[in-house]
Amino acid sequence: MNELHYQLDLLKAMNQKLAVKEKMYKMICDDANSAFIYYSFEKNEVVTMGHWHDFFDFEIQDIKDINLILDEMDESSSMSLRDVLFLEKSGHGISAMECKQKSGNVWYSFRTTVNYDNLGAPVDKLIVVENTTVQKNQRDELLYMAHFDSITGLFNRNYFVVLLGGFLRRAEVTHNVVSTLVIDIDDFKKVNDGMGMVVGDELIQAFGSFLKEFSSGDVIICHLSNDVYCMAIYDPSGDHTVEKIHKAIEKRTEEPFVLSGGQQTKITVCIGVAEYPEAATTALELINCAEIVMYRCKSMGKNSMQYFDALILNDFLNNIEMENKLKEAVFTSNFQMHYQPQFYTGDKKLRGVEALIRWRDDSGDMISPNVFIPIAEKNGCIVPIGSWVVEQSIRQYAEWRDKYHIPFIISINISAVQYNREDFVEGLLQTIRQYQVEPHEVEIEITESVLIEDFDKVISKLRMLKEIGVRVSLDDFGTGYSSLSYLKKLPIDTLKIDKSFIDTVLTDGATRIITESIINMVKALGVESIAEGVEQEEQYNYLKSIGCDMIQGFLLGKPLAPEEMDKLLQEI
Ligand code: C2E
Ligand code: CA
Ligand code: CA
Repeated sequence: MNELHYQLDLLKAMNQKLAVKEKMYKMICDDANSAFIYYSFEKNEVVTMGHWHDFFDFEIQDIKDINLILDEMDESSSMSLRDVLFLEKSGHGISAMECKQKSGNVWYSFRTTVNYDNLGAPVDKLIVVENTTVQKNQRDELLYMAHFDSITGLFNRNYFVVLLGGFLRRAEVTHNVVSTLVIDIDDFKKVNDGMGMVVGDELIQAFGSFLKEFSSGDVIICHLSNDVYCMAIYDPSGDHTVEKIHKAIEKRTEEPFVLSGGQQTKITVCIGVAEYPEAATTALELINCAEIVMYRCKSMGKNSMQYFDALILNDFLNNIEMENKLKEAVFTSNFQMHYQPQFYTGDKKLRGVEALIRWRDDSGDMISPNVFIPIAEKNGCIVPIGSWVVEQSIRQYAEWRDKYHIPFIISINISAVQYNREDFVEGLLQTIRQYQVEPHEVEIEITESVLIEDFDKVISKLRMLKEIGVRVSLDDFGTGYSSLSYLKKLPIDTLKIDKSFIDTVLTDGATRIITESIINMVKALGVESIAEGVEQEEQYNYLKSIGCDMIQGFLLGKPLAPEEMDKLLQEI
């Protein structure tokens, strides 16, 4: 009897323990935000636990009811999901997958674990169902960000490079061509500055959407940066030739893009084309080559398309070589100044000298400023070079004035980049003070290119210089906008008539009329005129007869090294 009591107490105790455990497991299941299906093969018993009713509105009474889950899911994944849910059939232990609900955008993950006995027969299994919609959306978003550009929805640069690499590998096997086009909107800055950045973004988006229409298995497009796109065409001899695409772009850009608030804007684009395998063999090199030709299109007047070729590559490499040499020369001040005299037309007395830079590179070659100044302007070297020129010229002038006591004018060429710097006037004044020259003994030669910047700013700087007494000469007149109407707004002292006019002034009637009108007009404005590039006596006589104030040119004096200029000054 005692024994029976003892057994009963033991059973009670065990039951209590089991009840506690069951409670604990239930709490864990309820807390887990998942739904569970437990199935015992031995007892053919199925139980659902956790948040089952948050997931499904049917009950599972029998193992076969698990099929009901399949009916709820997207058909495309039902085969694989069946394998996961009835995992015991494959004899494996654990398997998982994620699938989408048939209706709505809800994602579930299913994970099944099966336990086997020593003989390999399944004992029981657990299916865990979780709602993974949030994680799936986050993953998709990250994936999107990794591949696409947020403004245009086109591929981003990095992913495009990967895809272009794929095109190239394919083309290597099939011996096909891959064209890469870099497409850049002309004068985009004007749209951005004039209409605002939001409208600028809209334009980028609108043009991007237009380009997207070309995309296919063989055509990929990306938003490279700001207003630049890149397109790659696999086998451009097929349906999508570069010419066809170019024509379509031209046709589209004939019409304006309509942006928010009904604003309309028309654009033109520059396109640089580089082709595999001719131009380059890697994705990055191809994009680079296409970019180089695109910039060339820009510099040659915009709204055009050009192919990359060996000549362009040579030009580019020469420029790079020169850029590097130039940077070195800035450090070593490997430059020299020459001085070309300017004379009064009437009595041929010395009026001044124009300071002209010379560069002899390490190999001893003389490089023309016409070649290296534009490069220095592009890479910023012009700023230290320009300061050096100002310092050298004023120092040299002070030395000559003190030695020969002949005051004249030192005329210094100033680049637009240099002129438009905030510290330009201050730097110039400091040098003038340092060498104790009079401001009116110094003249700066600027070209119309300075006027591209904010016109009012340019004018106020000119007024400041005028107040101080520094003279200003407008160089190369006749080669830029040459609008006579703005001349009266410019507080300048001297106007230099470009050599191209002087070259044909004796032979071309129209040039003669223009030259005479320029001289008469500047005289009326109280501005001096100087003719540059005068090489012949007849040119000199003619210019004298029409009242040109001053003459500069090989006829009366070539640019001279300082020691030659010394001789000239001694003879005066
Ligand atoms: P520029 O300012 O128009 O200078 C006149 C150019 O014409 C000089 O060439 C001069 O040597 C040349 N020249 C003068 N008279 C004659 C002539 O009768 N016949 C011919 N065929 N040429 C003549 P250079 O020295 O080669 O300078 C070329 C350009 O380089 C200059 O044109 C100027 O734009 C730029 N440059 C020269 N020195 C400097 C400088 O120190 N700073 C800046 N920013 N630019 C400079
Ligand atoms: Ca000049
Ligand atoms: Ca000139």
